Order: sequence, then C-alpha cells, then structure tokens
Amino acid sequence: MSDAAFDVETASAWLQGFADRVAEEKEWLTGLDAAIGDADHGINMDRGMTAVAADLPERPADLAALFKRTGMKLVSSVGGASGPLYGTFFLRLATSAGDTATLDGPGLAAALRAGCDGIQARGKAKLGEKTMLDALLPAMDALDEALGAGQSPAEAMKSAAEAARAGRESTIPMLATKGRASYLGERSIGHLDPGAASSALLLETLAAALSGSDGS
Ligand code: ADP
Ligand code: MG
Repeated sequence: MSDAAFDVETASAWLQGFADRVAEEKEWLTGLDAAIGDADHGINMDRGMTAVAADLPERPADLAALFKRTGMKLVSSVGGASGPLYGTFFLRLATSAGDTATLDGPGLAAALRAGCDGIQARGKAKLGEKTMLDALLPAMDALDEALGAGQSPAEAMKSAAEAARAGRESTIPMLATKGRASYLGERSIGHLDPGAASSALLLETLAAALSGSDGS
C-alpha cells in the first residue's frame, strides 16, 4: 500500500501473511514451547490462523468487522493462554478502529496500543515477565518514536518489527512469572518465550503488508 492508509485490503494481507508465517514456523514455535511449556504454541497458533485465513476470501465491510471476526475466531479455535490473549488483541483493534474505513499511521499505532493494553488487562502481565508483551511493548514504543520522527507507516512498522525481534531475544535470560512457563521457576531462564516469538512474526508480517509485496 506504500504510504496510503491502512484499509481492509492491507489488513487482510497482514492476516494472510501472519497465517503463512505461523504455518512455516509451526515446528519452531512448538519446539520453543516444548522447552518451557507444553509443546503446543505452534499447533495452537496455526490452528487459529488457518481458521482466520479460511474466512479471508469473504471480505468484511470494514476494519472493525474484520478484526472482530478475527478475534472471535482466535478465541473460539485456539486453546491455551494464547487464544484469549491474541483474541483480545484483535477485538481491541476492532473497537479502536470503530467505524472508520482506514487508519493512518497514528490511528494504526493507537489501535495496536489498545490491543496490547487488552492483552495486559486480560493476562495481568507486565514487561519483563517473559511473555509476548516483551516483544509487543518495545515494538509499540519504537512505532511511536518512528512515527514521531516523521517516518512513513511502512518504515515505522519496520522499526517496530525490529524492536519486536530484539524484545523476543530479551526473553531468553528472563525468569517467567506468568503463564505455564512460570511453573518452571528458575528453569525457565535461558529459553526464548514462544509467545514473544509469534508476536515478533505478527509485527514482521504487518510491516510486510504495509510495504506491499512489491517491497514499495
Ligand atoms: P499455553 O501456555 O496455555 O499452552 P500457548 O502455548 O499457546 O498457551 O501460549 C504460551 C504463550 O502465551 C507464552 O509463551 C506467553 O508468551 C503467553 N502468555 C502466557 N500467559 C500470559 C500472560 N498472562 N500474559 C501475556 N502473555 C502470556
Ligand atoms: Mg503451550
């Protein structure tokens, strides 16, 4: 979409791209969860995003309808902690988008931030507890900073995706204090958090959708 507004077409490309990347990385994500959880994160996310992608040929009227459908599908089809958390993220995006047809850079940033607030409200985790938030929250800060510095939404989202990858890596030395990994106590240290890994893919695919498949 280059620097045009974020619309249903771009959002659908994002969701399809995320579904594709999750499918590609299913074994990796599940392997990460095998180390500090119950070895199902890749399976959970792939089940959910396959269901979301199956509905994409039928385009909803607006962003809110697309994100609401996505959130509800994830809540209903993904087991475990990640289903309700990712589901809440997209439901909050829908609320934030409201009845607007398109979002500009700041509007998209606000919607994503609302989504992250929803994850925090639901899961009661904060930064540094070895969860998906350790990828998402630094990405939101990087996005705000990049937009504030005058970068285009596509460029700014690349900065956000980079921050999400760095945030993902930052979970390795962390002690898990939320979710299933917290049962391991000290033994959770030294492993990448699976939810932070999938969240980095979420931002990476959003950056790709904003840039357009032709890399513009
Ligand atoms: P489950 O832990 O129920 O098997 P998944 O394996 O699909 O669910 O997802 C695990 C991921 O969910 C973790 O790696 C972590 O990133 C995320 N997670 C778990 N609990 C929370 C929480 N309270 N807040 C935010 N993220 C969480
Ligand atoms: Mg699991």
